[in-house]
Amino acid sequence: MKIICIGRNYVDHAKELNNPLPKEPVFFLKPDTALVTRNRPFFYPAFSNEIHHELEIVVKIMKNGRHIQEKFAHTYYDEIGLGLDFTARDRQQICKEKGLPWEIAKAFDNSAPVSKFVNKEKFSDLKNIPFYLLKNGEKVQDGNSGLMIFAIDQIISYVSEFITIKMGDLIFTGTPAGVGPVKIGDRLEGFLDNEKTLKCDIK
Ligand code: MG
Repeated sequence: MKIICIGRNYVDHAKELNNPLPKEPVFFLKPDTALVTRNRPFFYPAFSNEIHHELEIVVKIMKNGRHIQEKFAHTYYDEIGLGLDFTARDRQQICKEKGLPWEIAKAFDNSAPVSKFVNKEKFSDLKNIPFYLLKNGEKVQDGNSGLMIFAIDQIISYVSEFITIKMGDLIFTGTPAGVGPVKIGDRLEGFLDNEKTLKCDIK
């Protein structure tokens, strides 16, 4: 499986990092070795001094497809969860300045903790799912799927023009404002539709 991540999909987050608003979705990949499940801890890597949390709604793909029309995209996923797109912001800044790819900043081992997944039928409106992140009990990120610049179906249609999506793939749909650094000892807790679904201790 692969992990597809959308960047700059919320206006307030693009602004906080001084990035221009995209006219088309921006995406990058993480390998399967980035995945962390079952609320296992995240071990702070030696190569960075500035790991940031980015809480995101994650979509699980249920069948293979390419060149998917937006109107059919909803038939390619049935489960939704939360994920943390851990980012080595110091490394990413250097990559950006040099125009280099982002893998060392984004695709490193254990950079993608995910929650359990729930059936999308549980949500009355996929375009109005609130989610938020607590860091040591304090709310630091607060989002809603309705604020995405590119909605889930648009993302699937766009990505599948370039890359075949396969059953089991995960799509991270972008983070709202409030990203910030984590340190050893922190506890992150993600809430999806007011239900706690993700926990990650930084060790
Ligand atoms: Mg992200």
